Amino acid sequence: MKVGIMGGTFDPIHIGHLLAAEAARDSFGLDQVWFMPSHIPPHKEQAGASGEDRLGMVAEAISDHPCFRTLDIEIRRGGVSYTIDTVKEIRRSFEGIDFHFIIGADMVNYLPKWEGIEELVNLMTFIGVGRPGSTLDLDALPGYLQGKVHLADMPQVDISSTEIREKLATGHSIRYMVTDSVYDYIRRRGLYGIQPRRTD
Ligand code: NAP
Repeated sequence: MKVGIMGGTFDPIHIGHLLAAEAARDSFGLDQVWFMPSHIPPHKEQAGASGEDRLGMVAEAISDHPCFRTLDIEIRRGGVSYTIDTVKEIRRSFEGIDFHFIIGADMVNYLPKWEGIEELVNLMTFIGVGRPGSTLDLDALPGYLQGKVHLADMPQVDISSTEIREKLATGHSIRYMVTDSVYDYIRRRGLYGIQPRRTD
């Protein structure tokens, strides 16, 4: 079985994440994609929403896709979510699965800085998905990453979680940037500084 792991802070998950995962699944014939929210991301500040809420939003966003699943391994483990620790744990728990890690094209340039990257590339390959404005030169990657990063094209959607949080904080609409189910979840739980309210 071929499985793509879509790791992210997902603070909140938006349609750019969903399109990236679907592009990777379709381009590389992945049987499933597992969405894995990090607990504390290694490379940025702690998320605004709790791990439980970010996992809840991910579950809402992917519920209608037959091949998408959630993976709560990093939320359960706690601490800083180094991908190398996670991938070793996953490979112990799920033997015989061919794993691919899905990341945005911007993140590919940053891969050499990842903790334990030289060991990580021997445990799985990376699928980088294009996003607007990213300049990705695979030949410029260090030798140990050559042949370990594959690219998938996706419809370009210039949306970020930061922009969504800023819109919510300033009272602007995020409709269609996230699924209706995620928008309902945010309003129901009063996330990102908005007043909680019933949506039924
Ligand atoms: P994120 O912001 O929540 O986004 C998840 C992924 O979706 C990222 O790869 C991001 O790529 C991509 N993405 C977001 N918006 C997009 C759009 N509009 N179009 C296309 N792609 C889009 O994720 P993150 O917090 O950066 O983390 C990504 C994963 O890398 C996590 O699992 C994290 O733990 C892991 N990581 C590990 C290490 C380490 O082990 N040392 C270091 C850094 C990250 P972009 O980055 O291009 O936005």
